[in-house]
Amino acid sequence: MALKIYNSLTNEKEVFKPIHENKVGMYVCGPTVYSNVHLGNVRTFMSFDFIYRTLMYLGYDVRYVRNITDAGHLTDDGNVENDRFVKQSRLEKLEPMEIVQKYTVDFHKVLDIFNLLPPTIEPTATGHIIEQIELTQKLIDTGFAYESNGSVYFDVLAYNAKGLNYGELSRRNIEELFANTRDLDGQSEKKNPQDFALWKSASPAHIMRWNSPWGEGFPGWHLECTAMSTKYLGEKFDIHGGGMDLKFPHHECEIAQGKACNGTNPVNYWMHANMLTMNGQRMSKSTGNYIIPMDLVSGENDFFQKAFHPTIVRFNFLQAHYRSVLDISNDAMVASEKGFQRLMEAVKILNSSTGTAKSDSESTFDFTAWKNKCDEALGDDFNSPILISHLFEAVNFLFKLKERKEGISAENLELLKAAMNEYVFQVLGLQNIEENNNSKLDQALQVLIELRNQARKSKNFDLSDQIRDRLLAEGIELKDGREGTTYSIQ
Ligand code: AMP
Ligand code: ZN
Repeated sequence: MALKIYNSLTNEKEVFKPIHENKVGMYVCGPTVYSNVHLGNVRTFMSFDFIYRTLMYLGYDVRYVRNITDAGHLTDDGNVENDRFVKQSRLEKLEPMEIVQKYTVDFHKVLDIFNLLPPTIEPTATGHIIEQIELTQKLIDTGFAYESNGSVYFDVLAYNAKGLNYGELSRRNIEELFANTRDLDGQSEKKNPQDFALWKSASPAHIMRWNSPWGEGFPGWHLECTAMSTKYLGEKFDIHGGGMDLKFPHHECEIAQGKACNGTNPVNYWMHANMLTMNGQRMSKSTGNYIIPMDLVSGENDFFQKAFHPTIVRFNFLQAHYRSVLDISNDAMVASEKGFQRLMEAVKILNSSTGTAKSDSESTFDFTAWKNKCDEALGDDFNSPILISHLFEAVNFLFKLKERKEGISAENLELLKAAMNEYVFQVLGLQNIEENNNSKLDQALQVLIELRNQARKSKNFDLSDQIRDRLLAEGIELKDGREGTTYSIQ
């Protein structure tokens, strides 16, 4: 089956041709770990998690690199004094690397509760300072960059003079860019306001600093992604992803750096995930229009009327295509919860089904055609909402099967079981809440049984009886047999 990917560089859906057969190199810009991620960030990382899962489902061997930006990310005004890490470390009275650690741990925790798979490599900007210095030197040597006052800037005009077309991804015209840019920082240092920093000289107050041929400083944000993607995926790789808002200037600068350093466009397919909005406005920390994922899951927030399990959030997000804007709302979440429950009910019916009321030939459900449609949706630029709509055709069929109004052969039933479970749990990455809760309950009861056995061994019969009686009062009966202690729930 052919996979088609919407390429933001050409604005067209293109047939995907990997550089190496059956292998995919994918780089996704990671978080800037100076504060908690918000739900919008989660949406983008989830979109690429779904893309990663789909690529693996389609049989590709994927090297998935997602970086951690842990240095050098200035606020939008570009003022060196506004380094996000340094500012936050002052605010929280912590070392910048403590800030980095604190929010990296938070980031991993959040992605874990939404069942995102870890990337295969997760490199950090601070772990690749040497590579960034080397790239900067190379750009100076080849005439694409210049040093000024201990900082180094990429020379956009020199790049364009070589016919390399700065602005090709965001379709911005360089003259317009020059006319519309006000440079707030480094006015006197840069030749042109559009020139961007590869290396920034650190002021005495700037605590995150490294030695370089141009004095002590820190790398510019755009350069880290070029350094890490080149190191782990090569000068040219298959897929580069990130949120829509990174197209300009971040990804535009990555293209320029890649072309200037290696003489080739670094990426074959650029993919951009669309934004999560709340109250119709883009979710963003700076405007205060955001929600912290943990507050949604715990219900401790003013926006939602109740708490929602992370897998419901996941289902809600995947009901929209990754290239569409998604507005989060209480009503939509409630509807997703209902849909999810019906989906899980159908999976339960399916997994416990054996019989057939009618034969395959009488059945209105054509397994092969259904499976093809599902795979086509996945292959059509990772269309999760269309996949989900096909899954619900199977859901409707399964409810009829339960009422014995429909039939399916044992062979097709097994195929449907395998396919449905794979789509729901592996590809969409949803979690069966009821089953998970049951296994958690089982784990907790095993702990209590073990504690009761220890109490009996040490002849603390008061405690062992108390455990048995208290559980019985809750409707859980412990039975001691030759095989050990088992329990039954009334
Ligand atoms: P940052 O840590 O700010 O670099 O953001 C991490 C990722 O989240 C980037 O890929 C952003 O494009 C993405 N992002 C930021 N805001 C939103 C939003 N409201 N909806 C979806 N993705 C977002
Ligand atoms: Zn990046």
